[in-house]
Amino acid sequence: MGKSLDLLFKEIESREEELVDLLKELISFKTPAPPARNTSEAQGFIASFLQKHGFSIDRWDVYPDDPNVVGLLKGSDSENYHSLILNGHIDVAEVNENEIWEGDPFQAVVKGGAVIGRGAADMKGGLAGALFAVKLLRESGIALPGNFIFQSVIGEEVGEAGTLECCKRGYKADFAVVVDTSDLHIQGQGGAITGWVTLKSDQTYHDATRRNMIHAGGKLFAASAIEKMVKIIEGLQELERHWAVTKSYPGFLPGTNTINPAVIEGGRHAAFIADECRLWITVHYYPNETYEQVAKEVEEHIRNVAKGDPWLREHPPQFKWGGASMIEERGEIFPSFEIDPSHAAVQTLVRSHEAVLKKPPFIDVSPTVTDGGWLADAGIPTAIYGPGDLNNAHSVNEQLSIEQLVDYTKVILSFIYEWCHTKRSEKSFEIVNNAPEMTNNTLKS
Ligand SMILES: [Zn+2]
Repeated sequence: MGKSLDLLFKEIESREEELVDLLKELISFKTPAPPARNTSEAQGFIASFLQKHGFSIDRWDVYPDDPNVVGLLKGSDSENYHSLILNGHIDVAEVNENEIWEGDPFQAVVKGGAVIGRGAADMKGGLAGALFAVKLLRESGIALPGNFIFQSVIGEEVGEAGTLECCKRGYKADFAVVVDTSDLHIQGQGGAITGWVTLKSDQTYHDATRRNMIHAGGKLFAASAIEKMVKIIEGLQELERHWAVTKSYPGFLPGTNTINPAVIEGGRHAAFIADECRLWITVHYYPNETYEQVAKEVEEHIRNVAKGDPWLREHPPQFKWGGASMIEERGEIFPSFEIDPSHAAVQTLVRSHEAVLKKPPFIDVSPTVTDGGWLADAGIPTAIYGPGDLNNAHSVNEQLSIEQLVDYTKVILSFIYEWCHTKRSEKSFEIVNNAPEMTNNTLKS
């Protein structure tokens, strides 16, 4: 027989030091991205942690030295009970050499009731809480009837979406929680997609020909791609204003749907007219929109801008959207998703939160983007729910309150227990479609 949740909560309190040590240990693995390609050891630690507690492990390289780890705890009655994915990224934001920290960012210290170290808030705190909850559940001998999948993924900080790779591998569940930084709010998110707009001349010209292409009687139909990009940027600003006026979403300040001209490159040399110019943009959009839709809106608008210019009409802008890595391909996508407060799992999470915090949680939208978008994109109802606040994410002396970590661990433990003990109202889709056989447990019963 398992212990009651109250007893497990008491145990979390009495074993707080062990929980903090687990977080410190996770922080001690240096996993900043960029540079990335440094998570094998940390992922090995998580894989053996999960394996020790009865999970079968699926581990594969997304990039060299950057493996995903997925642990599956097969439910005792998985046909009839809800399944759950907990997802977190093991990579952390980069640390710059000139940053002044309390100590070594990868040797966490405890000060003023908080753990200070890179990744404390984003998001090794969430991983530590979830792993500790797993440990206590397993040690107490509780068997979950529903399937439970733990995903520790790589690449989130550089748009490499280890989570997308998990989805492609076939992992599914009735609900997913991304344990990323949300300050214990239950959140959906807007989306972000990057894109390149390229203007290209079909010929190159000496800089001495400039007079002929810009002044009366010059007779040379040509242009500087850099100067023409100014029109494109103005067009994007026009569309950005139009979106700010016409679109909105509860929880976001009007105009959060921005189009940022982030990087511009062009020209080859001072003795040439610039024959090419490339603009890298970041488009933020609302939870009820898709990246395909906003990319199409940008393209349509800019193609119309180009139609109003004689040179651009003959040299239409080219678009390249998204990408699977900011460091390999210079492109990324974070799909958006909405929270459905009436979903049974969201209600269960609300009850678990209330039982611990003695007040209802905020249900809102994240001001940033997480891997949750990929899980939602794969058709899995998803929520972000994690400890830590965004003021600390990526910051110098990044920290997480131990009190909040303890509360979080209680809530997530209770949620795992409750959700995987709730009967399905109807047969849902297969939990795992085509994922490979696990190392010590097969996926199909
Ligand atoms: Zn994060």
